[in-house]
Amino acid sequence: MNIADSLSWIKTKKRPFIIAGPCSAESPEQLQAVARQLVEMGVHIMRAGVWKPRTRPDTFEGKGHEALQWLKKIKNEFDIRLACEVASPFHVEQALEADMDILWLGARTTVNPFLVQEIAESLRGVDMPILVKNPINPDLALWIGALERINRAGISKLGAVHRGFSSYQKSQFRNLPTWWLPLELKTKYPDLPLICDPSHISGNRSMVPEVSQKAMDLGYDGLMIEVHPDPKNALSDADQQINPDTLLQLITNLKITDKQSSDVLFINQLEQFREKIDHLDQELIEVISARMKLAENIGLYKKDNNVTIFQLERWNEIMKTRPEWGMMRSLSEEFIKDLYTRIHDESIRIQTDIRNTIGEIKK
Ligand code: PEP
Ligand code: MN
Repeated sequence: MNIADSLSWIKTKKRPFIIAGPCSAESPEQLQAVARQLVEMGVHIMRAGVWKPRTRPDTFEGKGHEALQWLKKIKNEFDIRLACEVASPFHVEQALEADMDILWLGARTTVNPFLVQEIAESLRGVDMPILVKNPINPDLALWIGALERINRAGISKLGAVHRGFSSYQKSQFRNLPTWWLPLELKTKYPDLPLICDPSHISGNRSMVPEVSQKAMDLGYDGLMIEVHPDPKNALSDADQQINPDTLLQLITNLKITDKQSSDVLFINQLEQFREKIDHLDQELIEVISARMKLAENIGLYKKDNNVTIFQLERWNEIMKTRPEWGMMRSLSEEFIKDLYTRIHDESIRIQTDIRNTIGEIKK
């Protein structure tokens, strides 16, 4: 993907850059109240939902065109850039007409390649930042696909918003964070700004600060937080919005660690640790390779003696003893079980190959 230098649109090197504002634009007064306090605390990008994707009909679906007119006025009154969600080419057209600065695709749009493609086409020739929220389901390829579609329409000011993943699993989160998935996205596209939306992950305002901190600890570039002057009476997502004072407190309390250090002593020490890790990893690979060689011999032996590859008692014994050995060395049971499941899978694959490729089974 052709990703623009984030400085060209985020316009600050300070981490995190913050996008804050109400789930939905509800009235000119609500928008003014939030905008005023955001600017006072140094936040210069405001979000506001104009069209709301609601799970059930007969709930508040956003103020649409009317809200865009209020937002346009906010831009004249305050030193603030505005972001809203678009879910169709019609929304794009209206948002551009109202002079919005940043657009985002919501989780329910990212899941739909037809719709993403239509939106991408409607953005051709437009030079503005577009953020793509993760799809509702934990599918990295689908998220990347949506980003690629927008990117191929000529948009290079791209960002990814992590808002968590829907699940039947009972959990403290409204949407499971599944942190490894956005981190894999960041690993594949290091230049793509990664923004956490702690509001939709948490689903309740009490967890928003801790989820924001976790995102910072993992090196996220920004946060998109839902802020409302009177959260309890918000027309959408009332449980998860925080008021501007709480936002200020949250920002003040965030502990930001550097992504990298230029301290020579630190770099030296880190290099030494890494050298030791490299040696250990080489030994680890030697040991795994020797173990697989033995598995190969066992495979031949089982084949010659006409016995099945998978031996349940042996597998049960491995799954009992290895976690016990690991725990004696402070390694978690879950980790050792996962590790041996992978090793055992590979060992079975090797033995199956032997059975299938070298001669016939003795009768
Ligand atoms: C929102 O940001 O208000 C929203 C609807 O988000 P999502 O697409 O993450 O559900
Ligand atoms: Mn919301």
